[in-house]
Amino acid sequence: MKKHNFSAGPCILPQEVFEKASAAVLDFNNSGLSILEISHRSEAFVSVIEEARALVLELLGLQNKGYQALFLHGGASMQFLMVAYNLLQKKAAYTNTGTWSSKAIKEAKLFGEVQEVASSKDKNFNYIPKDYSIPEDADYFHCTSNNTIYGTQMKSFPKTDVPLVCDMSSDILSRTMDFSQFDLIYAGAQKNMGPAGVTLAVVKEDILGKVERQIPSMMNYQVHIDKDSMFNTPSVFAIYTSLLNLRWLKNLGGIAGIEDLNNKKADLLYAEIDRNPLFKGFAEKEDRSTMNPTFNLAEAADKATFDKLWKEANINGINGHRSVGGYRASMYNAMPLESVQVLVDVMQHFEKIS
Ligand code: PLP
Repeated sequence: MKKHNFSAGPCILPQEVFEKASAAVLDFNNSGLSILEISHRSEAFVSVIEEARALVLELLGLQNKGYQALFLHGGASMQFLMVAYNLLQKKAAYTNTGTWSSKAIKEAKLFGEVQEVASSKDKNFNYIPKDYSIPEDADYFHCTSNNTIYGTQMKSFPKTDVPLVCDMSSDILSRTMDFSQFDLIYAGAQKNMGPAGVTLAVVKEDILGKVERQIPSMMNYQVHIDKDSMFNTPSVFAIYTSLLNLRWLKNLGGIAGIEDLNNKKADLLYAEIDRNPLFKGFAEKEDRSTMNPTFNLAEAADKATFDKLWKEANINGINGHRSVGGYRASMYNAMPLESVQVLVDVMQHFEKIS
């Protein structure tokens, strides 16, 4: 029986995408070849990657606006240094909203001065700092839109003339916004887009070519753009599976189509966290993530009983990250509302028998 999978990753996709991807492993589009064995230079795969790159831009509303979508290797962690390699000439501004921002800052420091303009470390990253300014002479400003571990999410982004770079690994394609405010968006695919092993970078081409250093080819966005995202062998299967998921999202009405469902799921769970005296939310209410709600048990609640109940209900993956403790119920695009209802029912039953 399929589990209600609240795991933070990887990789949570709709059942129909898993089924189509599995079929392609056996025979890709009646070619007599597995998707795992077709040449990445074949017409069939070139059309896969081209469609996927175009569909990302279409879903984000960024077609014909000077952006390029790339499918790269190395995860979002590689982007932490690739961003700085390509954009940091003298100084960059970063907000520190958790583990992933801290790691991005650490890598950027290898390339130049990093000004940490705001941090929520003082409260174990349970909020999003709002009161800060970005130096006009920064080469770029970097932020993390959704803090997967802490369950906080930026609801708006600073208005600045400095190029805006955003790590959207855990909320890409989950909510509508004006994506043209960003100059570079990156995301490890493995939450809302596809399997681990491929990383999305959406780059506004005119921000490139401004640093003086030599950039190794694999680290150079321009090289990947010039080679149509096929400078080296791309992650063929991960990209094909991502394409299936992008098509699924498009058929639902795109990001606007899924946003409504994501809000319903979040409203349902947070309402129970706030109502039920046995639970308390971790993140500040105004900064709560729709993707990764985090919560703890109240002191009086019996952990062993709650853990037994959710496991019996066929729920998977709600243990919190070790740096926060408690619970985290990740609810990416593919999570149905019914699964969230199952969790809420368990929480209510727990209250009744406690
Ligand atoms: N950034 C965020 C917001 C993440 O949630 C993660 C992983 O969960 C990463 C970066 C690191 O991604 P990767 O494992 O693809 O390097």
